[in-house]
Amino acid sequence: MSAESITAGLGAEYAATASEAYRAALQVIESVEPRIADATRKELADQRDSLKLIASENYASPAVLLTMGTWFSDKYAEGTIGHRFYAACQNVDTVEALAAEHARELFGAPYAYVQPHSGIDANLVAYWAILATRIEAPGLAEMGAKHVNDLSEADWETLRNSMGNQRLMGMSLDTGGHLTHGFRPNISGKMFHQRQYGTDPTTGFIDYDAVAAAVREFKPLVLVAGYSAYPRRVNFAKMREIADEVGATFMVDMAHFAGLVAGKVFTGDEDPVPHAHVVTTTTHKSLRGPRGGLVLATEEYAPAVDKGCPMVLGGPLSHVMAAKAVALAEARQPAFRQYAQAVADNAQALADGFVKRDAGLVTGGTDNHIVLLDVTSFGLTGRQAESALLDSGIVTNRNAIPADPNGAWYTSGIRFGSPALTTRGFGADEFDRVAELVVEVLSNTQPAAGPNGPSKAKYILGEGTADRVRAAAAELLDANPLYPGLTL
Ligand SMILES: *Cc1c(COP(=O)(O)O)cnc(C)c1O
Repeated sequence: MSAESITAGLGAEYAATASEAYRAALQVIESVEPRIADATRKELADQRDSLKLIASENYASPAVLLTMGTWFSDKYAEGTIGHRFYAACQNVDTVEALAAEHARELFGAPYAYVQPHSGIDANLVAYWAILATRIEAPGLAEMGAKHVNDLSEADWETLRNSMGNQRLMGMSLDTGGHLTHGFRPNISGKMFHQRQYGTDPTTGFIDYDAVAAAVREFKPLVLVAGYSAYPRRVNFAKMREIADEVGATFMVDMAHFAGLVAGKVFTGDEDPVPHAHVVTTTTHKSLRGPRGGLVLATEEYAPAVDKGCPMVLGGPLSHVMAAKAVALAEARQPAFRQYAQAVADNAQALADGFVKRDAGLVTGGTDNHIVLLDVTSFGLTGRQAESALLDSGIVTNRNAIPADPNGAWYTSGIRFGSPALTTRGFGADEFDRVAELVVEVLSNTQPAAGPNGPSKAKYILGEGTADRVRAAAAELLDANPLYPGLTL
């Protein structure tokens, strides 16, 4: 497979035009605030010069990026397609309708809502749409009212309290769940009474019988599947059966793996769209679009999701909706399927590279785009490993592992993801070499002494290691340039 077929839209034929566009843009910015122009140039240089293995990041095409820098940013368009609270939204209507159409076609969903500004916003829209459908609407009917504004203050208080008294079950944080799945520091944990399901302590895999037992006992209104740090696939058909047993709404947050769904790597029971009532996602992770979110829904939940504004959101970011339309159009091209398959193959190569060098992996491997390395096998905390890798030009993030002995701040894991370097054109051999470089850094890193035994933050990196690894990484990066031919 040629690198160009994967890096659709980043090819050489666009490079000269994109270079001109960016040079002109930077010149204009420079005339107002040169320090921002400098920081923008430096950001490209830094992204080009590092091995980016952060599992939630990617590189969007110049077409996607350029679409965000337009006058759509200046337009207010509260409401929904054809039904706005502002005048002169005809072009925003075109943009939003196209983005929604691409999302429906790409994912095979009956309905798509493309206004959420981020993943967390998409989840908030979904949660409130579920509460509106399951609690508010029947409550209104029971009280003989059509609209919340028709209720007495006392009736509204009753209804409001019942919406605030519902249950949600999601995956625990330390086994890979996300803060927005009902955790107390996040608004979702203040809205819902939450309980969590985890993974099997010996295998690290989701144990569906244990999930079913927990759901039967807790009887949540909402069952959430989806993760940020679980390196395995999920059987969404099974999860739906479990939800159905207690009449729970089944929601899937595919923020991390939407690209693998779009690229048909996850099909059948692993495709959340035919099984979930509501699916949420970011658009900037494996999907490779602009920073944002979207919600897919069945006909049953669509009317409530469509009221995301004014329920949760204000004016949409029309310039970002335009970029979502461009990115979704890219994801509908055959090259995106090749990209998604390469993302999965490359994560596999990275995991195999760790396993053959005796590095411990959570669940022993991967079958998605995430590899979670247990760095206690190197005698390090996640914090130390993350810093030593960064010193060596390898950008990752520390992450808790199941039952993490070092807690959520220091952690014992490093999370790796294949989407970004796959966009650059890295293949399986190069991911194996990345595993080798990571192991080289971590085997040459030791915890520094602290006041009461080994420090959890400070570390000593063996002399010469960082330079040696940076030089080796530079070879890989030079062979797979980011935005080839783009010059500022
Ligand atoms: C990244 C992520 C989010 C949040 O996305 P933001 O755009 O950062 O708000 C939500 N859910 C999951 C599972 C994620 O991985």
